[in-house]
Amino acid sequence: MKYEKLIEKMTLEQKASLMSGKNFWETMDIPELGIPSIFLADGPHGIRKQAAAADHLGLNASIPATCFPTAATMANSWNEELGEQLGKFLGEEALVEKVNVLLGPGTCLKRNPLCGRNFEYFSEDPYLAGKMAASYIRGIQSNGISACVKHFAANNQEERRQSVDTIVDERTLRELYLTAFEIAIKEGKSKSIMSSYNLINGTYANEHEHLLRDILRNEWGFNGVIVTDWGGDNDRVKGLIAGNELEMPTTQGETNLEIIKAIKDGSLKESYLNEAVDRLLTLIFSTEEAFVEKKETFDIDLHHKFAQIAAEESIVLLKNKNNALPLKEKEKIAIIGDFAKNPRFQGAGSSVVNPTKIDNTLEFIKEYDLDFVGYAQGFNRYGKNNKSLLKKACELAKNADTLLIYLGLDEVTEAEGLDRVHLEKKGDDHWNMDLPKNQLDLVSELSKLGKKIVIILSCGSVVRLDVEKYADAVVHGYLGGQAGSRAMLNVIVGKVNPSGKLNETYPFKYLDVSSASNFLTKQRTVEYREGIYVGYRYFETAGVKVHYPFGFGLSYTTFEYSNLEITKDGVSFDIRNTGKVAGSEIAQMYVGGVNNKVFRPKKELKGFKKIFLLPNETKHISIPFDDKAFRYFNVSTNKWEVEGCDYNIMIGKSVEDIVLEGKLFIEGTTKINPYNEEKLPSYYSGKVSDVNDDEFKTLLNKEIPDPNYSFYKRKRMVVHYNTTVAELRYAPGWTGRFFAGAMRFAINSLRRFGKRTLSNTLIMGVYYQPMRGLSRMTGGAICWGSLDGLILMFNGHFHKGLHKFFKERKIRKKYLKSLIKKEAK
Ligand code: BGC
Repeated sequence: MKYEKLIEKMTLEQKASLMSGKNFWETMDIPELGIPSIFLADGPHGIRKQAAAADHLGLNASIPATCFPTAATMANSWNEELGEQLGKFLGEEALVEKVNVLLGPGTCLKRNPLCGRNFEYFSEDPYLAGKMAASYIRGIQSNGISACVKHFAANNQEERRQSVDTIVDERTLRELYLTAFEIAIKEGKSKSIMSSYNLINGTYANEHEHLLRDILRNEWGFNGVIVTDWGGDNDRVKGLIAGNELEMPTTQGETNLEIIKAIKDGSLKESYLNEAVDRLLTLIFSTEEAFVEKKETFDIDLHHKFAQIAAEESIVLLKNKNNALPLKEKEKIAIIGDFAKNPRFQGAGSSVVNPTKIDNTLEFIKEYDLDFVGYAQGFNRYGKNNKSLLKKACELAKNADTLLIYLGLDEVTEAEGLDRVHLEKKGDDHWNMDLPKNQLDLVSELSKLGKKIVIILSCGSVVRLDVEKYADAVVHGYLGGQAGSRAMLNVIVGKVNPSGKLNETYPFKYLDVSSASNFLTKQRTVEYREGIYVGYRYFETAGVKVHYPFGFGLSYTTFEYSNLEITKDGVSFDIRNTGKVAGSEIAQMYVGGVNNKVFRPKKELKGFKKIFLLPNETKHISIPFDDKAFRYFNVSTNKWEVEGCDYNIMIGKSVEDIVLEGKLFIEGTTKINPYNEEKLPSYYSGKVSDVNDDEFKTLLNKEIPDPNYSFYKRKRMVVHYNTTVAELRYAPGWTGRFFAGAMRFAINSLRRFGKRTLSNTLIMGVYYQPMRGLSRMTGGAICWGSLDGLILMFNGHFHKGLHKFFKERKIRKKYLKSLIKKEAK
């Protein structure tokens, strides 16, 4: 242990005290031993350091910081250098604000397009997500502080994120959901990691010894600090045993007492605590060194300019019929759509940044050599029909030749804590991923005028794009950060040649998605029945047609690929710019098995390169094979193995558009095949949209856990620490049912009165909060003993519970007072 001497000097109480926060954002300090507290702050695309009121829901304003494009946007750049530079700037701003640990990047996989937090994540592909995450981490940590890659692991939905149990087989977990983190940890060397709220196969992520000890620490060699997500601690002692040292935020010392008690009664070895303290001290002292040289300011304009470049590199041109774009000089344009005036540039929740400035399309448009005839709002941002707005837009459109129509999802739709559900019933496709209907109606009306239509999209996740049929061009800006508007204009006029490619697939409709029937069910669990077939891995293998494939994006120039050479070490080939303008191309390498016996997706991304080429220029590209190129996780040998067979090596402009292809035989590492093809027909064909119980059970290699809540009689359930406020509707006691009912009433009323942000906050902060969260997240205001009282009440023992609630409160107050007295002495 690095700090053995210091730890020897510490009392048991002092050691335990370090294991949870001092307040909402800081760790505990021990001044007499020279141990300072350190500051943790969000977030992944800009610093959210709160000076006054603290929260984890993005409610209270933070100190101004640069709002860079979100991860979902940046992943479209496929540019690791750019990611690293973004990380460097993030880290520099953190230095100025004296933030030791930056809570990001978010590295969860996009399993389903409706996950409310997809805007904060990189990709549906673990390789791309991992590489981008590692680049951010390198950049952030080059400043001496720590990144904190999150949320580990299998946290792919927001609804009931604190209580949902992810049921996933080991191979899928390893190959998809953990690989991105593995790259982030091994290549990015993140000094800390945040465990997720959810359970994985019945165990809370922050108590998961297999995940945290066997895989993260022992296999990947992670020696940093594991932090709980805010309020995500379930059983403090179990968490510590699993190696999750730091609990955030503060519990006012309540959980320290649990640690002390466990050591005294022998259920926790003191050596575990010592190791945890040692790792935390390493994080504290190493990041504190970063502040020795004081950094007072950062260059706001430079960071803003960089945010613009990052957005420019990430914009994806989805359609460009007859070279509708770039716009010609003096082209007569009208700008229509609320998103032009009020840019949508980031998501909602804990990642919300208070930007240093915000670029605006309508302000800048005059700087471009265009004939701008005017702006019309066109639609109500939050989906309400408004005939007059539509009419005004049509009137304006008549004066122009080209209509720039800015569409998107509003900021309350894509938010942390809840998923993107559109509950309009539309046949069986009532869970859809459409843009709001009033926006679609507007485009359809405008299309009748026979003008050139350019659709500009702002949203952080996949939407259905039927509306494309009306458009000559479609440009997707995702959530471009504070300088995104200017970046978009630069692409539209051709100052910048678009080079972004999609980090996720755009299906024709939601029900085409492999997890559609196993997402947001009313169950206690979420079953990953689709296994390894997520995103393009599914569409390609099962032969389901998509609207825009993974890795797709157009340019104002064209590229030609030739001269493929494949060796045991990797591939090389030439790319030529065959068009008239300079541009960047993202070449992608996919690998698939030929006559393989162990099922695997038809294509998997195993390498990529982004290169810049002048017109007529040719460059020779090499992409090496790494340890992930041919491996699969073998559940029988419990190891990564390679199957001995021929492999297709495919070079593509997207996953669909393969331009060069060859074969390579690779020696296997084992002959053991854990699967019986006859018993797993869906997984062998990739047609996994409707896997039956038997087959899923075979894949899991165990019984499928009961997905239902346990009701004991007449739809009543016993309330316990992990019962959510929402589930209190089934509480035996009227107090519980009343509380849940009042919450539902408040949420629905707020929504009805247009207060969607507040309504979302209640859903995120209270409705899906487990009972334990009422104590863990209130900084000790409701102590654990009082929580027991509440639970008694909710279980129907009103008087006994009420008595306990107040009695325990009194005891706790008395205890805290005695501590203050002791300290004063
Ligand atoms: C989020 C984390 C965030 C934390 C602190 C949680 O609700 O899930 O991503 O870092 O709050 O704000």
